[in-house]
Parts: sequence; C-alpha cells; structure tokens
Amino acid sequence: RAAIIPHPQHGIGRDQIAHSALKVIDKLQEAGYEAFVVGGAVRDLLLGKIPKDFDIATNATPEQVHGLFRRSRIIGRRFKIVHVTFGRDEVIEVTTFRGDSDDGQVIDATGRILHDNVWGSQEQDARRRDFTANALYYNPATQEIIDYHRGVEDIAAKRLVMIGDPSLRYREDPVRMLRAVRLSAKLGLTIDAATSQPIATLAALLKNVPAARLFDEMLKLLFSGHSRQCLQQLRQQGLHHGFFPLLDVIMEQPLGERFVQLALDNTDQRIQADKPVSVGFLFASLLWHEVLASWKDRQATGELPIPALFSAMDEVLAVQEEKLAIPRRYSVTMKEIWALQPRFEQRAGKRPFRLLENPRFRAGYDFLCLRAESGEVEMELAEWWTRFQDVDGAERERMLIKDE
Ligand code: ATP
Ligand code: MG
Repeated sequence: RAAIIPHPQHGIGRDQIAHSALKVIDKLQEAGYEAFVVGGAVRDLLLGKIPKDFDIATNATPEQVHGLFRRSRIIGRRFKIVHVTFGRDEVIEVTTFRGDSDDGQVIDATGRILHDNVWGSQEQDARRRDFTANALYYNPATQEIIDYHRGVEDIAAKRLVMIGDPSLRYREDPVRMLRAVRLSAKLGLTIDAATSQPIATLAALLKNVPAARLFDEMLKLLFSGHSRQCLQQLRQQGLHHGFFPLLDVIMEQPLGERFVQLALDNTDQRIQADKPVSVGFLFASLLWHEVLASWKDRQATGELPIPALFSAMDEVLAVQEEKLAIPRRYSVTMKEIWALQPRFEQRAGKRPFRLLENPRFRAGYDFLCLRAESGEVEMELAEWWTRFQDVDGAERERMLIKDE
C-alpha cells in the first residue's frame, strides 16, 4: 500500500540528517527496531528548506526507547514521547507509532481526542498524522521515503492536504485548523479545497482547546517568520474572529494597525535573519494602542499621567491575560517596556543617564523606534536617543535639553 520512493527520485541523502538524529535511528535499528525521520523534517527537506528539528518515529515503545538511551526521559501524558538529549541542549523527540483503534482514545462530546496512547503499525501511525506532507518516513539506512498518502506528490504540487475526512480530523483536534494556516503560510503551500472548506464552519471548536495549547500555537504563528501571511490566511479562512480577540480590536484602529504591522514585520525579519526575538516585546506592541487609548481617557478625566499609565496597563492586561492566557512572565516584560515610554520624553538633567542604565533600556528604545516609525511619536525623539547612545559623555551633556 505504501509507496517506497528511492533516493534518486527524491534526492535526500543521509548526510542531510542531523548527527544526533542519525545516532538515535542507528541505535534503534541496531537493537532490532524500525526507526525513521518523520514529519516536518522530511517535508522541509523535500521543499529545499533546512529543518529546524528532526523528529523520529519508531515501533519501540517509550519504555524500550528510554532503556536504550542513558540521557533520555519519557514525557507527556496525552501523548507519551521520549526526549533524547545530546550535548548541552539538543533534544531529539522519539515517538512510538500510534494506532487508530478506538479503545485507547478518549474523546469529548465534540469529538476531540483527550488521551491517545495506543501503539500501532507504521501505516496506522501515518493515518493519524495531520497532512499528507507531514506523514512521510525517511530511512537513512536505505535513503528511502515511505509514503502512504501521496505526500511527496502533494509537496511537489505545493498542496497541503488533510489525511482522511477533514471535518472529522478538525473535530478530533481543532488546532489542526491553525496548523493548516501556519504551514501553508510558512511553506508557501496552497490549502487543498476540501481541506480548507470546513474550517470557517468549525472555527468555533477552538474554544474547547485548552488556553495554554492555544497560546503555544499562537506563538508558533506569530514567530513563524511569516506572521503577515499567517494573519492574512487566518482572515481568509475565517479564523481570526473570536480566536484572536486581540487582533480584532487592534486592526480596527488606523494608527494601531500600522504599528502592529511594523512590529510583526520587524519580528519576521529578525527570525529570518536568525536573530533572537522576545515574546514580551511583541505582545507589548500588539496591545500598545489599547494601553494608549485607556491612558488618554484616564488623563482626560483628570488622572495624572504616570498613575494613569499604570492603571491603563493593568486594565488592558487584566482583560487580555484572561482572554489570551498570556503567562505571567510575559506580562512582566510588557509592563516594563510600556512603563519606560514616558521616560524617553524626559531629556533634561540626570534622567536620560539613568534611563540608559535601566536593564530594559534596549527593549524600551526598540519599542520607541517602532512608535516613531509608525508616526505615533516624533521621529526626532527616537533619533535623539539613537544619537545619545552613540556619543561620548561630553557630547551627551551638550545634547541635554535645557528648558524642560
Ligand atoms: P514544524 O516543526 O516545522 O512547526 P512539524 O510538522 O514538524 O512542523 P510538529 O509540531 O513538530 O510540526 O509535529 C511533528 C509531526 O507530528 C507533524 O509533522 C505531524 O506529522 C504530527 N502532528 C503534529 N501535530 C499534529 C496534530 N495536531 N494532529 C496530527 N498530527 C500532528
Ligand atoms: Mg517539528
């Protein structure tokens, strides 16, 4: 039933697989198990992209895998998998072939799979994966690809196609709707008509997904390096309403939209250039115009500027933390970045020097630059701070604004 595609037809060589992944596979195979590179890595290699990680699928149980590797541990409850560690922090994920018999699956009233730890054959494992492009198995020993669902053909045609009945598969796991959006946007694939058709109707099922998992998936969208295309796809598929209350609000403010776009483009560029990005910074950008609006309202009713800003921050965070399940550690960063903004207006006396020493200065300054670029504050202010950082102490003194 499966197509076995030999090396000359796909061109993926053993040398394109990470050393750590090869080690895991070789050891499993030497112990008599089947083991393959699976999923995103095979797909990315076929698309001529460099995979960000190599997942492995095997017929060994998690316990058997754990038994072979000293530096490994079994994790997860919903899906038990094994993490094998290499070097300082490289982790290879090893998954046991999943079966599709009903008895091991626990589903809720909407058809969502809650638990799933029944082992199966490779063929069953392939059927349980989401898209045909994600269900390919590469054996480095033979350099062959095993393809049960014409995934190689779909990749060549740049199609993203759900395995099985799309509606049913979305009901089992609504996050697959978001994965369709992200993978198509990131990889330049077209979502197949039958795969995209049920999405708008089933979008509401995302409400049943635990908030933390939704948050993770949202991060993957925003930090895919193609966030603009992802958001455009979300809208096209009818997925932004309700799922992304944050963007619904912001997109309706003319100034806010430009700011958010700049922040997202900036994030995309950084990711594509392999530079570090900060979740707190991006979220601070996404919500900034909410904060601004509330800050203005509060000042209009007579609150002093700084207390008004802090109340506005708390107000916005209280609403959004709840809706978006933003973990605490990010909201702390967001607040720090916001709270620095009025301090950039103060360019007299000792204050600019103190601000320069602030551990969050860099993030606050980058944020100020985005604000200036979006037209919300004068470009002159951002340029002043760019120069103030660059010049020596004497020149800094000369730069201070005297009559503030
Ligand atoms: P990337 O890592 O580039 O974001 P990926 O396809 O590797 O993409 P992972 O989340 O690493 O995504 O998942 C690895 C593989 O597990 C997928 O290729 C797919 O075969 C399977 N998979 C992941 N999530 C699901 C899901 N929700 N439903 C079915 N199969 C899934
Ligand atoms: Mg992956």
